[in-house]
Amino acid sequence: GHTVGPNPSPRIVMMGLRRGGKSSICQVMFHNMQPLDTLYIESTTAPTTSVFSSFIDFAVMELPGQINFTEAMIDAERIFSTCGALIYVIDSQDEYINSLANLHSIILHAVNANPNINIEVFIHKVDGLSEDFRLDAQRDITQRVTDELLDDGLVNVSISFHLTSIFDHSIYEAFSRVVQKLIPQLATLENLLNVLCQHSGIDKAFLFDIGSKIFVATDSSPMDIPTYEICTDFIDITVDMNNLYAVDRRPKTATRTDANTNAGRTDSSNGVKSIPQGRPIGSTSRLSNGVILYLQQMVKGLALVCLMRKESMPKIALVEYNIEFFRDALEQLWLIG
Ligand code: GDP
Repeated sequence: GHTVGPNPSPRIVMMGLRRGGKSSICQVMFHNMQPLDTLYIESTTAPTTSVFSSFIDFAVMELPGQINFTEAMIDAERIFSTCGALIYVIDSQDEYINSLANLHSIILHAVNANPNINIEVFIHKVDGLSEDFRLDAQRDITQRVTDELLDDGLVNVSISFHLTSIFDHSIYEAFSRVVQKLIPQLATLENLLNVLCQHSGIDKAFLFDIGSKIFVATDSSPMDIPTYEICTDFIDITVDMNNLYAVDRRPKTATRTDANTNAGRTDSSNGVKSIPQGRPIGSTSRLSNGVILYLQQMVKGLALVCLMRKESMPKIALVEYNIEFFRDALEQLWLIG
C-alpha cells in the first residue's frame, strides 16, 4: 500500500459557467477520456459537486446562471476555507464578459473565506484561437480581472492565468503548475531528484501522479514538451500492460485473446483507467534512438519516470539501488510532513 502522511492532500476546487469545459477537463485528466469524446458529455443543469481523489483531492463545482448564486456561494465559502486553489475555467471561444463578472464575484467570496487561496484562471479551448489571438485574449482577460481587483483594493490576491486546451499537453502543464504550488515539500523533492540524477547517470527525472499524469516535481535540468509527452505515454502503456496481465481480474478460463479484447473493452466502455493498487508497477523500455525509459511506482500513487542513455544500462543495479534510497526519502518526507 501507499504511505499516507498526516498532512492532507492539496485540495483544489474548479468552477466556471456551463459549457466552459469543466467536465471535459475532468474526464480527460482523471478518467482518461479521449478529448474528442467530450463532445458527447451531457451537460449538468443543477449545481453539482463531484470529487476525484488521487495524489490531490479535487472537487468540481458548477454554478449555472445567477439563480441561487448567494445560496450556492455560502456552500462554496465553506469549501474555499479548506482548499488551496480555485481553478476558474473561462471559454475563450465564447464571449467571456459574463464569465469575468462571475469570476469577479467568486474571487471576492473566495478570498473572503480564505485569503491565502490561489486563484488559477484557465483561459480554456485556446486550440480554436490563432497564436496572436491567444496572447490577446490572455492580455485582455488579465488586464480586466486585475483592474477590477485593484478597484476593490485587493492587491494581495494570488492570481495566475493559464492558456489551456484538452487537445494538447497544455491542460496537464497548467494543472501541474497549480498542484506544484500546493506542495510544501516541492523544493526538497526537486533536490532529491537532482541528487538522484547526478549519481545515477539519469538525464531527466519526473515524479508523476499516475492517475492524472500531473507531474509533481522534476529535476532542474531543462524540460521540453516532447520529453514530457513521452513520459505520459509511457505511464499509459505501463498501466495498461499491468492491468492486462494483472491477476484476479479475468475469469480463469479466459484465453489470452479473450483477456486482450476484454481489457480493451473495459477501458473504453467506462473510460476509467484503474490506478494500480496491489504490487507497485514498473517497467523499462528502450526507444529506437537509444534512450532508455524507466518507470517505478513510488509512494502515494506517484511514479518516478526517468530518461537515461543506453550507456547507463550496465549500471542499472546501481540506479535501482539509488532509487530505493529515493523511495525511502519520499516515505520519510510524507511521514514527517
Ligand atoms: P462544462 O459545462 O463546464 O462541464 O463543459 P463541458 O465539459 O460539458 O464542455 C462543453 C463543450 O466544450 C463540450 O462540447 C466539449 O467538447 C467542449 N470542450 C471542452 N474543452 C475543450 C477544449 O479544450 N477545446 C475545445 N475546442 N472544446 C472543448
